[in-house]
Amino acid sequence: MIEFDKLAPPEKGRKIEMEKGKLQVPDQPVIPFIEGDGIGPDIMNASQPVWNAAVEIAYGDKRKINWFEIYGGEKASEMYGEPLPQDTINAIEHYIVAIKGPLTTPVAGGYRSLNVTMRQMLELYACVRPVKYYRGVPSPVNNPEQMDMVIFRENTEDVYAGIEWEQGTEEVKKVIEFLNKKMGTDIAEDSGVGVKPMSIRGTKRLVRKAIKYAIDNERNSVTLVHKGNIMKFTEGAFRDWGYEVAVDEFRDHVITEDELWDQVKGPDGVTPTTKKGAFKHLRGGREPGNPGKRIVIKDRIADQMFQQVLTRTDEYDVVALPNLNGDYLSDACAAQIGGLGIAPGANIGDYIALFEPTHGSAPKYRGLDRVNPSSLILSGVMMLKYMGWVEAAELIEDALGKTIMDRKVTYDFARHLKGVEPIKTSEFGQEIIRRMKN
Ligand code: NAP
Repeated sequence: MIEFDKLAPPEKGRKIEMEKGKLQVPDQPVIPFIEGDGIGPDIMNASQPVWNAAVEIAYGDKRKINWFEIYGGEKASEMYGEPLPQDTINAIEHYIVAIKGPLTTPVAGGYRSLNVTMRQMLELYACVRPVKYYRGVPSPVNNPEQMDMVIFRENTEDVYAGIEWEQGTEEVKKVIEFLNKKMGTDIAEDSGVGVKPMSIRGTKRLVRKAIKYAIDNERNSVTLVHKGNIMKFTEGAFRDWGYEVAVDEFRDHVITEDELWDQVKGPDGVTPTTKKGAFKHLRGGREPGNPGKRIVIKDRIADQMFQQVLTRTDEYDVVALPNLNGDYLSDACAAQIGGLGIAPGANIGDYIALFEPTHGSAPKYRGLDRVNPSSLILSGVMMLKYMGWVEAAELIEDALGKTIMDRKVTYDFARHLKGVEPIKTSEFGQEIIRRMKN
């Protein structure tokens, strides 16, 4: 039995376990949650009733989530005197599936970011963000429905590793001197310096997760996005190690784009294409050894990928990227489907999965019951799917779609829709529940 300093787990319910790489979810799981700072309480209070109602409608008395509040950010600082107490880390490590609201990074206190620290402490190396369009959501592009991607962003390495030295310090002088004298570089004396480590292990475990997801969910392709034309030994290596995982570990399930192009001509008889559906006869099946039905592994250079997601949106499916590229691309893609208010996310490691909305704590909207809870609600949908409670997840997705189609939306969508009066955060949750029940 796990002991906590200041937490009392619910008396009812059991923990979710991982056995031989497979998640074992009891019917009455204990799931820890962090309410979050700023708008955290507004969106958590709207979301939990939606998740509970969906589970009840889908499974009756058979299944129920036993929520267990744990603390991060401002609430934790009040209780423990620090924003990320050991109790919280221990609880997530023990219960292995958890969900959180956004946390404000304290200006003082030595944290670069609470969220980044948490991901690193728990080794949550994959940031997973499905980017999918719901009809009726105002979007800045003409065909937002073409966007249906799942982004796997590496979470622990790259320039986010936090290794950098400030301009003018003794440390940076030493680093510059070493590099200029011993490594033949020519770095200006008045520079700040950062380090961009990218490892075989860090890359392969991320790409492995993306390919496994593509196989399990019958997706069409996995695209490795990198800036390897310039940063050959980090970003270029990401691409090379990514292909290595694909071919060495998933040979029977994948075909590289080059292999495909060698085998098949495109519709015009010359140009190959990987447009969704163009190679229907080559995909969709999981039969090992059948070269005709495999997931296509391709790669794209990051800058042109930003263009591609706008101009050839439907050619991309599962996407794997290093940390910084992933950060940029996931927000850019979210904009195409209606913005951060509706973009869910999860941070996943080998065992532990922590679900969270992609936006921050938006402090100016704190307590106003105004913001869009969809990002957190849909993070819960991801969590339910991850747990295998697909029926409950689908009920929510369906009802959320209907709610938006009925133009019952919060301010962020209403401001782009003529003649639509915004509803409150809490009302949006209730509207979803009403549509699930009908
Ligand atoms: P933010 O909290 O994401 O808010 C930026 C803007 O995005 C808001 O002003 C609002 O735009 C829109 N927005 C965010 N959430 C929304 C929602 N649920 N519904 C509708 N619109 C929404 O970014 P920030 O102001 O840069 O960051 C605030 C704090 O959050 C910082 O301390 C940061 O470190 C932290 N943060 C935490 C996480 C996390 O916990 N994972 C992630 C990012 C940032 P309008 O003003 O146009 O309405």
